[in-house]
Amino acid sequence: MQSNGNSQTTGQLTKTNIMVNILEIKVNEVKGQILKALRECSDYLSGETLSNQLSTSRVSIWKHIRSLKKDGYVIKASPGGYRLFSSPDLLLPYEFPDLEQRIHYFPEIGSTMDVARELAKKGAGEGTIVIAEVQTRGRGRLSREWLSPKGGIYFTLLLRPRISPAYAPRINLMASVAVAVTIRKLFGLKAELKWPNDVLIEGKKLCGILAEMDAEMDVVNFVNLGIGINANTSIPQFEKTATSLKDVLGKEISRKKFLSALLMEIERQKTLLMKADLLEEWKKLSATLNNDVRIVAAGEVIVGRAIDIDTTGALIVKEEDGSVKEAVAGDCIHLREEAPNTDI
Ligand code: ATP
Repeated sequence: MQSNGNSQTTGQLTKTNIMVNILEIKVNEVKGQILKALRECSDYLSGETLSNQLSTSRVSIWKHIRSLKKDGYVIKASPGGYRLFSSPDLLLPYEFPDLEQRIHYFPEIGSTMDVARELAKKGAGEGTIVIAEVQTRGRGRLSREWLSPKGGIYFTLLLRPRISPAYAPRINLMASVAVAVTIRKLFGLKAELKWPNDVLIEGKKLCGILAEMDAEMDVVNFVNLGIGINANTSIPQFEKTATSLKDVLGKEISRKKFLSALLMEIERQKTLLMKADLLEEWKKLSATLNNDVRIVAAGEVIVGRAIDIDTTGALIVKEEDGSVKEAVAGDCIHLREEAPNTDI
């Protein structure tokens, strides 16, 4: 799904847009099938073959090709048919063939979290994804700003987990594990986790994670999981504390491949959400455990050695006088730059 039926427009979620999005499902499906066919063919592919393969008219094929060109795909036409020469670096729904029906795509939006909230309230299902190329009001915890320039990866995934609200913080852990595992698998970089919601490389923040929950006393209605990744961006405003995959690798990455791999990893980690394996995996990747930390939460300050996390995802800290405290949420500062995990 895609805003306004046109990937080049600036999206705002309105009733009309949601309707248009629903109508876009079919269009995206056909565009996805055309791209697949063109990519599988090393030569020109005739309009007739395409129309037979997709059981649609040649005029319809021509219209979809024109729309793909508008999106930035370079497709040349000759008497022999159509040939794809290049694709834009955009996270368009039809670049994710198995997921396109769940994706709401916006070239630019205030915040993917706001759109996802509206969709969730209207009953959108588990696995709905809101993607934006740019966010103008991206946010982190406590409404802090998350800078979201072009070249990053910004999305919100709608989850409807059947868990008690007390365990919802595990979703932060699950998401951060998925991001770190994906980075390690794809690039061999030593991505580490900082409690409660950051992914770090070389001690600098590469990814922000925000989980917003709508719940009753003992039932979670939905959790919107927002993930912002500094992929092909530079964030000069936070030069000392932030980094990006492009900065670390010295070259741009394929955001499509990364997002596909990450969404698959999240699916895998979701199956471990309430299992001990998730906590074990988080502990292995954690830069916070065994570190001296200062936690500031709701006016309380806890200073000591981070020794464990409990089953709800709370951080257990042993203070200098030996007392053990539990931090459920809060700002966490690492007091020394020593990475406890040396293995990748
Ligand atoms: P911290 O990592 O400092 O504890 P936090 O976890 O409370 O912050 P987040 O919700 O993860 O906050 O992110 C918001 C903060 O991250 C902002 O206040 C800003 O300091 C920083 N920030 C904003 N945009 C980016 C970005 N693109 N990359 C890295 N850091 C950013």
